[in-house]
Amino acid sequence: MQYISTRGGIDPVPFTEAVMMGLADDGGLILPRTIPRIGSETYAGWKDLSYQELAFEIMSRFIDDIPESDLRDLINRSYATFDTEKVVPLVHQGSLHIMELFHGPTLAFKDVALQFLGNLFEYLLEKNDSVMNILGATSGDTGSAAIYGVRGKERINIFILHPHQRVSKVQEKQMTTVTDANVYNIAIHGTFDDGQAIVKSIFNDLDFKEEQHLGAINSINWARVLAQVVYYVHSCLHINSHENDKTTDFSVPTGNFGDIFAGYIAKRMLPEGSIRKLLLATNSNDILTRMVTDGVYSLSQVVPTSSPSMDIQSASNFERYLYYLLDKEPDQTRQAMEQLTETGKLDLTDYQDQIQRDFTATAASEEDVQAIIGSFYQEYGYIMDPHTAVGVHCALRHQEKGIPICCLATAHPGKFGETVEKAIGKPLELPDSIAQILDKESRCELMDADRNQIQDFLKKHAVQAHTA
Ligand SMILES: *Cc1c(COP(=O)(O)O)cnc(C)c1O
Repeated sequence: MQYISTRGGIDPVPFTEAVMMGLADDGGLILPRTIPRIGSETYAGWKDLSYQELAFEIMSRFIDDIPESDLRDLINRSYATFDTEKVVPLVHQGSLHIMELFHGPTLAFKDVALQFLGNLFEYLLEKNDSVMNILGATSGDTGSAAIYGVRGKERINIFILHPHQRVSKVQEKQMTTVTDANVYNIAIHGTFDDGQAIVKSIFNDLDFKEEQHLGAINSINWARVLAQVVYYVHSCLHINSHENDKTTDFSVPTGNFGDIFAGYIAKRMLPEGSIRKLLLATNSNDILTRMVTDGVYSLSQVVPTSSPSMDIQSASNFERYLYYLLDKEPDQTRQAMEQLTETGKLDLTDYQDQIQRDFTATAASEEDVQAIIGSFYQEYGYIMDPHTAVGVHCALRHQEKGIPICCLATAHPGKFGETVEKAIGKPLELPDSIAQILDKESRCELMDADRNQIQDFLKKHAVQAHTA
């Protein structure tokens, strides 16, 4: 399988190069040249595979430059860290299927992709006798999942910036109690945006980037999307076999559009109709909901909510969908993205029919989130986190008779205890993995939001090619 850029400016590359490139060199996003189609017989034959076996079947259709046994080994190691053999269990509550994506080490869905990406980076660096210094900014969840993905790995050092005292206690502890020598947490006096701006500015220093082998872990990496395709297919197989139904809707709590885009790929791969509709659920940062309902993608201010991992305006994976929407025309995609950057707005009303065939969208207010967590607990005794609640709100609104619907549960409720306790009206029992870290020793540098200071620190602690 060869990979191309949405903006058409790179020569096709194989999977392993696409992974190392992260963002395409022409500023676009990387996509497979074609989306493999799965025939009905093959699909039916996957019914009894384990999560890991299914992951291999799917990934190997997108990867032809890693030997089969190595790929199997990477997959097996990545999901051995989950607290259940099922990896991504499916539970049934009321009229809904709930896909629990939070059984990895940091209790959020990003582990599914970042455990795999960490192992993949390690494997490729070993092969190429190279090193990588990962630099990223986080508002909470991505940082911890990335740190757990690469902790203790030899050829990788990781530097994660978070805003000092502006992440939750659990999120801070999850990051700073990882004291492996290759992990550097940096709390900055400033906001998430300050951290993000510093990271971008350091990446734009191309000499420094090359000299220090800088690597990124944000959700634009194709390997992350690919790892996420697997759980859609996995749940689909199980729901379809349970219900004699041959179709399913999915409701996806959405921020950067990475997770739901994986669903879109799954939908195009599987036999026609296996996935019917993707429900795009946002919190009050509703740019994507407005895009689906009005056909206009227009940026506005970010407002803080109880589902902080979805407090995003500029959805970095949206360009991938746009490429398909614009009939795989790289020039048109580039122009559209340039227009968006210049004017903060993109008019897609000509494509609205197609958009509404692919997605249905609803935004949940803060009151909706509280109400759903509360009523679901009352009725079924099931406790969900605020991100999951955004998706469940959307699912209940759009559920159609006779069509199964599956909600993605993206975080463990214990990660967002305050909101959840308020909604259910009683204290939450913390999972062991959280309880254990709360008074564990932690390590973190505190710095000003000053690019030079951070760049110097990185240089001083970077893993060097000749010492690895
Ligand atoms: C990152 C995240 C999301 C949003 O996923 P995207 O791929 O950015 O759309 C939803 N819920 C949780 C808990 C997350 O950490």
